[in-house]
Amino acid sequence: MIELQQVHRRYAMSGQTVHALAGVDLRIGAGEFVAITGPSGSGKSSLLNILGCLDRPSSGRYLIEGRDVASFDDEAGSDMRNRRIGFVFQSFHLLPRLSVLENVLLPLRFHREPPADAQTHAHALLERVGLADRRDHRPNELSGGQMQRAAIARALLMRPALLLADEPTGNLDSKSAADVLALIDEVHAGGQTVVLVTHDHDVAARAPRRVRLRDGRIEHDSTLHAPAH
Ligand code: ADP
Ligand code: MG
Repeated sequence: MIELQQVHRRYAMSGQTVHALAGVDLRIGAGEFVAITGPSGSGKSSLLNILGCLDRPSSGRYLIEGRDVASFDDEAGSDMRNRRIGFVFQSFHLLPRLSVLENVLLPLRFHREPPADAQTHAHALLERVGLADRRDHRPNELSGGQMQRAAIARALLMRPALLLADEPTGNLDSKSAADVLALIDEVHAGGQTVVLVTHDHDVAARAPRRVRLRDGRIEHDSTLHAPAH
């Protein structure tokens, strides 16, 4: 499904260079559920942004579904982001002026040919995440857990092959976090590929595979059963 080969990401910051990713090799197969862990600043978000085609490697290769993202023009990149990838963020990123239902339907605005069943699917997703009775509310009328469940419904609208979540439970109380994690488990059980970034070991423990970053490198990959050198 995805493959990184010696991926580096450097940021230029007021004359200094930050080496956020320093040679990452990683393959993730279709249907896997992988947790990316590591201390703050270890490169987790940088990695996820590259996986989600929100950003590109400074050097190295990223192949998604066999295609090199370096070959994508703007349209191919946004097509990949909009149709094949769902994103969930720690801070939800819901639009405050839109209702819950309108937020879930937001991805349609980026499509010339929206799927015919999008409305029905949005309602089914709101049912599934337990927000059917909140669909006409604004995000600020929801709890954090409800906001994140709305954000997950939105991420799933286009039936993405790949769901990416950056600290999705970071702002939630433990009960809400458990609900959100149960939903993510369900997404994985349904066959979608899931990559979850978290610094919480209990959250990471739910994923069958855990990859730990340190200083922009993979320090440990639980499927390889050996620390990186
Ligand atoms: P994590 O998500 O694990 O906390 P990040 O990927 O956000 O780590 O950051 C890795 C390193 O890159 C940090 O040193 C961070 O300060 C730096 N960094 C991240 N994004 C940027 C950016 N847009 N500009 C400059 N430096 C950045
Ligand atoms: Mg981060």
